[in-house]
Amino acid sequence: DTGSGTTSSPRIIALANQKGGVGKTTTAINLAAALAASGLKVLLVDLDPQGNASTGLGVGYDARRSGTYAMLEDGDRAASVVQDSSVPNLSLIAADTELAGAELELVMAERREYRLREALEQIGAVYDVVLIDCPPSLGLLTLNALVAAQSVIVPLQCEFFALEGISQLVRTVNSVRQSLNPALKLDGIVLTMYDRRNNLSELVADDARSFFGDKVLETLIPRNIRISEAQSHGQPVMNYDQRSSGSQAYQALAVEVSDRLALRGARKGKA
Ligand code: ADP
Ligand code: MG
Repeated sequence: DTGSGTTSSPRIIALANQKGGVGKTTTAINLAAALAASGLKVLLVDLDPQGNASTGLGVGYDARRSGTYAMLEDGDRAASVVQDSSVPNLSLIAADTELAGAELELVMAERREYRLREALEQIGAVYDVVLIDCPPSLGLLTLNALVAAQSVIVPLQCEFFALEGISQLVRTVNSVRQSLNPALKLDGIVLTMYDRRNNLSELVADDARSFFGDKVLETLIPRNIRISEAQSHGQPVMNYDQRSSGSQAYQALAVEVSDRLALRGARKGKA
């Protein structure tokens, strides 16, 4: 059972946490790349006006064409805003420069919570998996992601105050499930920037596991400088330094997420 309805709709996963700097974008880029390398057709949607996922895949600010904003404004444009990335099997909808205004403009839009969902319905059939990189807030952009997705994955940084604010996120996910999107599931917490030399990392991991049980994914993403270097070179870490601990961890995460969400079952085997 793929749990995702018809074979023509992709599995849509939102990477969300209203805290900034916890590893949402890093996880979006590197999980997307590792899933793509495993043969799945992957689309990464950059829903953060800062556009770090776009930059991290080599599409810098100056190279931004129409992207997520254009698609939210007019769902019929979805197909035209998808671009190839440097990674085979991985496509991108970049954050265009106007996306910063979307949070406010959406307030006035018709069906404002459904814009992303309806736009993705027009193009989803080509992909096995869609990953949405959310901005660091629980505003309308993140709400659009939660309405479009079947799964939320929450990156949790192994740092002070990691769990602070998490209950608000969980409440938001629950209320979206009860109202706008019954299919939505919190499918995993991924522990990021884990440092084995630091007791605090272990404490945060233990706390998260006692709070969320097996929602916490087994794969730990280590703090690894190669991960952030790769981003500044516009590459996923597995393309930048295949042997690094960061690269290995994100590949392991892709295997774990594939198994847990039965993503292979969503595979279409399209050319
Ligand atoms: P968010 O999208 O939640 O704001 P980012 O993914 O942009 O967070 O990560 C914040 C910063 O931390 C970025 O500079 C990123 O390169 C760095 N970073 C993220 N994960 C790691 C990691 N595992 N090791 C080292 N640096 C990391
Ligand atoms: Mg980000």
